[in-house]
Amino acid sequence: MNNSTLKSLLIEYDKKRISAEELAQKNRETLYTKFPELADVDKKLSSLALSTMKQLAQNNDKELIKKLNSDIEVLKKKKEEILKSIGKEAECIIPNYECKICNDTGYIFNGSTSKMCNCLKQRIYNIEYNKANFNNLNKQNFNNFNLNLYSEEVSNDKYGADISPRENIKLILDICKNFIANFDNPDEKNLLFTGRTGLGKTFLSSCIANELLKQGKTVLYQTSSVMLDTIINYHLGKSNVDPDIYNHLLNVDLLIVDDLGTEGINNMKLVELFNLLNTRLLNSSKPTKTIISTNLSLQDMFETYDERIVSRIIGYYNICYFFGDDIRFIH
Ligand SMILES: [Zn+2]
Repeated sequence: MNNSTLKSLLIEYDKKRISAEELAQKNRETLYTKFPELADVDKKLSSLALSTMKQLAQNNDKELIKKLNSDIEVLKKKKEEILKSIGKEAECIIPNYECKICNDTGYIFNGSTSKMCNCLKQRIYNIEYNKANFNNLNKQNFNNFNLNLYSEEVSNDKYGADISPRENIKLILDICKNFIANFDNPDEKNLLFTGRTGLGKTFLSSCIANELLKQGKTVLYQTSSVMLDTIINYHLGKSNVDPDIYNHLLNVDLLIVDDLGTEGINNMKLVELFNLLNTRLLNSSKPTKTIISTNLSLQDMFETYDERIVSRIIGYYNICYFFGDDIRFIH
């Protein structure tokens, strides 16, 4: 990852965190003037906390510390009651952080260790890897998914199926919604979207990405050709490749591999594709899921890819067949 990206994001995080805290502090002072008993209890609490700290550091008088702790408990209860009597208005003294997990620090601290919060990870992914692909993400959500673009006509001759494209897309939508709801279940399958261009595969991938981002998951979007070139360049140690990218591809919560089949396959790419898909299936630290979309039919896939890859897909992916008329030309 580019260090300057992280640096500028951390400056942005500092700014939003400090402004949330300053606003909370301002609200607290307003509330103190309005409810002096709250100011009083807070003042007493901080003075007791200070005395406890002094005792711990200097005299360590166990009896006294016990007494201080019990006084603190009493005051805390009193404060709770005061806050309760103030009601909703009191909520404004809690800083309203954008991310409630890391409190806009970008990191989750656990004792002496810390790890990057998903919110910051995702910001980096969007800047470094997702770039243009995610520009329209806000518009691509299930609310904007228009079923009417799919024909109600049942025609085996035209579509090669016994149900209409609309019935079919409804079934696919159900599969996608289950995928989101059961994302953390290791037994929930991955998704393969197969079908011609212009049937909504990429749009639907983005809808899913959108929902999972709202849940705090990380999402990486890659076209198959760019991704496989990047992985190969990474293994060749080329200097223009981000050294973290492979790790991200293996560990991101949701990886979307778009346009499988356009990468100009060779042996090296087959091996890398298999390793990537297989490692993501075996991830034991957390469930990682993949959505692959392709214009290839299953038959084409059998002909193009190594049997190991196709058998992984058949075993561990829900296969969604998209068919119908090109929705890009329907208005
Ligand atoms: Zn966060």
